[in-house]
Amino acid sequence: MDRSSRKTSRLDVAAHCLSVALILGVALCVASCSGTGDSRPSDQGDAVAPRTTVRVSPPQTPPDPASTLERGLAWLLAHQEPDGRWSSSEFMTQCDRQERGEPCVALDLATASHPHGAGFAGYDVGVTSLAILAFVGAGHTHRDGENAAMRETVRRGCNWLLEQQLTNEDPSLDGLIGAPSSRANEWIYNHALASHALSELLFISRDRQRLAKPVEAATQWTLRAQNPGYGWKYGYQTGRNDTSVTSWLVLSLKTAKACADARLITIPKDELRASLDGALRWFRAVTPTTTGLVGYEAPGDEGSRLMASERDNTYPYSKEIPTLTAMANCSRLLAGVPRSDVGIRRGLTLVHGAPPAWVPPEGKQLSSVNQVYWYFGTYLSSLMTDENSAAWAAIAANTLIDHQRTDGCSRGSWDPIGEWGLAGGRVYSTALALLTLQKQDRSAKLERR
Ligand SMILES: [Zn+2]
Repeated sequence: MDRSSRKTSRLDVAAHCLSVALILGVALCVASCSGTGDSRPSDQGDAVAPRTTVRVSPPQTPPDPASTLERGLAWLLAHQEPDGRWSSSEFMTQCDRQERGEPCVALDLATASHPHGAGFAGYDVGVTSLAILAFVGAGHTHRDGENAAMRETVRRGCNWLLEQQLTNEDPSLDGLIGAPSSRANEWIYNHALASHALSELLFISRDRQRLAKPVEAATQWTLRAQNPGYGWKYGYQTGRNDTSVTSWLVLSLKTAKACADARLITIPKDELRASLDGALRWFRAVTPTTTGLVGYEAPGDEGSRLMASERDNTYPYSKEIPTLTAMANCSRLLAGVPRSDVGIRRGLTLVHGAPPAWVPPEGKQLSSVNQVYWYFGTYLSSLMTDENSAAWAAIAANTLIDHQRTDGCSRGSWDPIGEWGLAGGRVYSTALALLTLQKQDRSAKLERR
């Protein structure tokens, strides 16, 4: 894959739209994803992208989502550590143990976080959780699924994750998954993802004996750590809130609630409801009713930034992408806000105006790659019933399918060149891509149970 082929335009992406939509079971890939949202000053972070028209062209070579998923899981399987974890920063030590050809290396070293695609240290709990979610999403648990190797990999990953949960008399630590670390200031993401992964594993496997108590303890920590009446930030009742952390924790609470509704765990319903109501209050506090554009820590702020990725005083990633709007509105739907809500409609219009595109940074061109946006946008789309949402999700899926690595030890993975890939690395980018591709089917399964 050369650099020119990686600069996929939105129209190029749309070329496969119809075929992907059909493969994904979407009845119709519509001719327009254009938004009608309000405009806003360009110095605000979670900004409105220019109005974009997505045209459907006849499909070329139809992509194969099934083989994409299989290759992705095989890559994760090959890069699990002997103790059961996946490493955010050291996964490449597993390359030499495999017979998969040239060790993992990023295609574009100028934009990759690391020659191999390694992320920051300190996020093993988070990326292990994402990997487990990817296996569970494909029907593999520690005791379900036809593939024995997949069952075993989930079992080992789950055991390692459970070993990371703290038991402590201090309520600010008890139940937390992954100890607070000075190496990872944003360690609460580790807990959010681990709580989500274990909850989902419990819900799908129904293994109450192994997982009910850990999920209850993790959920209770989340409830205690919340700023009363609002959301969360990096720590235990810090008094600060942000939309990103709050959204990820809403996902974990939603899955815990599904477990509670199925009587797999015991968490008071009024406590869960009050927690979700607090998150909703936070989202309202950072969303101007005039635009529907959701802020990070305040309405109209520029969004979150990874300071380590500053280059030549230019942030390499576009802030003209409504990432936080997708996160907050997905979370709002999960927390019980109806699809017809005017705020949901405004947010959806903004997201539809900024469909996914794989554009790496080059010169003054900022990168548009943001897998968190694509994941939450796809999740949001899967909760809606309109054709524009289905088309948006098909574009996200197609973009990922087109940019999965197919060579050497890297095959099945995604280069972590997008925003947050610097921190999460290749395990993060690969697992989150798989979760995005699985999202619509996963939601359908959860709704049916
Ligand atoms: Zn490798």
